[in-house]
Amino acid sequence: MSLLRQPILLLSRSSGVKKVVSTLPVTSGIVTGYVPGETTDAVVEAAATLVDDGLAVTLDFLGEDTLDVARADATVAAYVEVLQALAQRGLARHAEVSVKLSAIGQALPDVGDRVALENARVICRAARNAGTTVTLDMEDHTTTDRTLAVLRDLRKDFPETGAVLQAYLHRTEADCRALAHEGSRVRLCKGAYNEPEDVAFTDRIDVDKSYVRCLKVLLAGEGYPMIATHDPRMIAIAGSLASRYGRPQGSYEFQMLYGIRPDEQRRLAGSGERVRVYVPYGGEWYGYLVRRLAERPQNLTFFLRSLISKK
Ligand SMILES: Cc1cc2nc3c(=O)[nH]c(=O)nc-3n(C[C@H](O)[C@H](O)[C@H](O)COP(=O)(O)OP(=O)(O)OC[C@H]3O[C@@H](n4cnc5c(N)ncnc54)[C@H](O)[C@@H]3O)c2cc1C
Repeated sequence: MSLLRQPILLLSRSSGVKKVVSTLPVTSGIVTGYVPGETTDAVVEAAATLVDDGLAVTLDFLGEDTLDVARADATVAAYVEVLQALAQRGLARHAEVSVKLSAIGQALPDVGDRVALENARVICRAARNAGTTVTLDMEDHTTTDRTLAVLRDLRKDFPETGAVLQAYLHRTEADCRALAHEGSRVRLCKGAYNEPEDVAFTDRIDVDKSYVRCLKVLLAGEGYPMIATHDPRMIAIAGSLASRYGRPQGSYEFQMLYGIRPDEQRRLAGSGERVRVYVPYGGEWYGYLVRRLAERPQNLTFFLRSLISKK
């Protein structure tokens, strides 16, 4: 892990820093590099452009850790609206949505799991009506069991619902085994939160080794693996493992974040791979932006320089 990652993620909890950084208009180049806009229209337009380029998308209405029921309801309404808009534009075959349970009520005291499940059901139903699916994002390790429990409940009525597993957690290889069954869509990522070493690998090499072990389990299994990484080594290893396990292109997919390695996204799609771009949108871009900056200290330097030159 980068030495800077932990302090940046910790700094992100400071409301003072958030206030200063959040005064940047979303139109500033730094934010729009990662988030194409704040509105349904803006994200559907971005999705249409990506789909025209031969890519699929998953849309994420930004926001997390809400303790406000009205805000959770507004997030559900935003998902329903965007799903209807995708269907109207004829994009639903190439577009799904990604949902953070903490944005739809999971963090509410006592009733969190029940509210998150009910809200997730509303979004899953809207996705099904639109002709597409939902993937549940995975947040910090304190929520993993609860998120997987909600997933199990949701899958009783919406078996197409996807899960995310994070290779940096010690538990994840076992979770991959449990979820590598037929019909199970699993996105494997490295993990973006600041996790303690009793639950997570903290050395980059150990995270990569775990990622490869998890890839093997998922690609050898019966489910639909969604390989979410920008790492050229992981992408090459995934390609070789797919051949080794006799997986044709289209029986798994690659996923990358909007604005990160766009040329590689198009190169992979051009080589016949299915590639899906994760497109976040909305006004609550702060936590997402900080995680992206923490992943790459070069981005932070660029970000700080841009801030200074704007003063
Ligand atoms: C589709 C998708 C969904 C995700 N969902 C979740 C989730 O639900 N929960 C969760 O914890 N995490 C999620 N993540 C984030 C993920 O866990 C990692 O934090 C992130 O993808 C960086 O890891 P990496 O595999 O790209 O490898 P890294 O080793 O971090 O990066 C490899 C290379 O990718 C490029 N790169 C990586 N990050 C950046 C960046 N910010 N800016 C520019 N270049 C970059 C660089 O070339 C870098 O050398 C998701 C990622 C993707 C792609």
